[in-house]
Amino acid sequence: MPKAVIIDGRKIAEETQLDLKAEVDALAKKGITPGLATVLVGEDPASQVYVRMKQKACDRLGILSRGVRLPASIGQADLISEIETLNADPEIHGILVQLPLPKHLDAADVLQRVSPDKDVDGFHATNLGKLLSAKYWEDLPRFIPCTPAGVIRLIDSTGVEIAGKTAVVVGRSLIVGKPLAMLLLARQATVTICHSRTQDLGSETKRADILVVAAGVPRLITGEMIKPGAVAIDVGVNRLEEGLVGDIDFDSAKDIAGHLTPVPGGVGPMTITMLLANTVRSAQESAGA
Ligand code: NDP
Repeated sequence: MPKAVIIDGRKIAEETQLDLKAEVDALAKKGITPGLATVLVGEDPASQVYVRMKQKACDRLGILSRGVRLPASIGQADLISEIETLNADPEIHGILVQLPLPKHLDAADVLQRVSPDKDVDGFHATNLGKLLSAKYWEDLPRFIPCTPAGVIRLIDSTGVEIAGKTAVVVGRSLIVGKPLAMLLLARQATVTICHSRTQDLGSETKRADILVVAAGVPRLITGEMIKPGAVAIDVGVNRLEEGLVGDIDFDSAKDIAGHLTPVPGGVGPMTITMLLANTVRSAQESAGA
C-alpha cells in the first residue's frame, strides 16, 4: 500500500460533472442550452482524440457540441472568419480552438480572435491579463485556463489549505505553468516557478508543500526530490512504449508524498471538466442567470 493518498481525478471529475449536469438541467428549464464549438484544423490524431473526448463529455451533460472541422490547408484569414462567425452565433457560448494548429498558421493571433466572452480556454489576452491583475481569488476573470483550474480543484480535494504554503510549479507554459502559478498566488501561496534553466531542481522541489509538475519530461521528479507529506500533482502526459507516464516517478513518489495524482486518471479528467464548467458559466452569464 502506498503511503500517499492517491488523488482520484476521475472520481472528482465525475462528481463535478454531476453538479454541472444539474446546472445544465436548470438552464434547460429556462429554454437555454449551453453550446461549445470545437474548432479542429487538420487531421492530427491526438487532437482528434481530444476533440472527440470533449464532444462526448458535452453530450453526456446535455451541452450542445458543434464540431467545426477545417482542412489543414486553410489560411489565416479564412480561419479567423470561421471564428468570427462563431463569435456572433447566439447558440455558441464557448469556443475552443484545438492546439496545436498547423505550422503555417499564427496560433497566438487566432486565440486573440476568439471573443473574450466565449474564451472558455481562458487564453485570450484580456482574460490572461485579468488573471495577472487578480490579487485575490474573488478578482479572477470569468474564464481561467482549464488545466490550472482543475489542478486547484484537485489540491482542494485533499483538504490541504493552500494559503501560506510553499508551492513550486515546474514548467512555465502559457497553458499550464504560468497561469497555475498565478492561481496559487491568488490563493495566498508563496510560489516558485521552475523551468529548464533552473539550477538545482531537486532542492527547489523539495521545499514544496504543494508541488505541481508540468514539464513534459517522463519521470523528471523522483521521490527524493519531494518533501515528505507534500501534495504532488502530476500534469505531465508522456506517451512511451510502456504506455502513458507522468512527469513524476510514481513508484518512488508514492511513499514520500502525502497526496499524489496518478497518470492517467489524475489531472486529465479535470481539464475537460473545467472546460465544461466554463461553458456552463458562460451560458448562465449570457442569459443573466
Ligand atoms: P511545454 O512544453 O509548453 O512547457 C514545458 C515546461 O517545462 C517549460 O517551461 C520548460 O522549460 C519546462 N521544462 C522542460 N524540461 C524541464 C526540465 N528538465 N527541468 C525543469 N523544467 C523543464 O508543455 P505544457 O506546459 O504544454 O505541458 C506540460 C506537460 O503537461 C506535457 O506533458 C503535456 O502533455 C501535459 N499536459 C497535460 C494536460 C492534461 O490535461 N493532463 C493539459 C496540458 C498539458 P522552458 O520554459 O525553460 O523550456
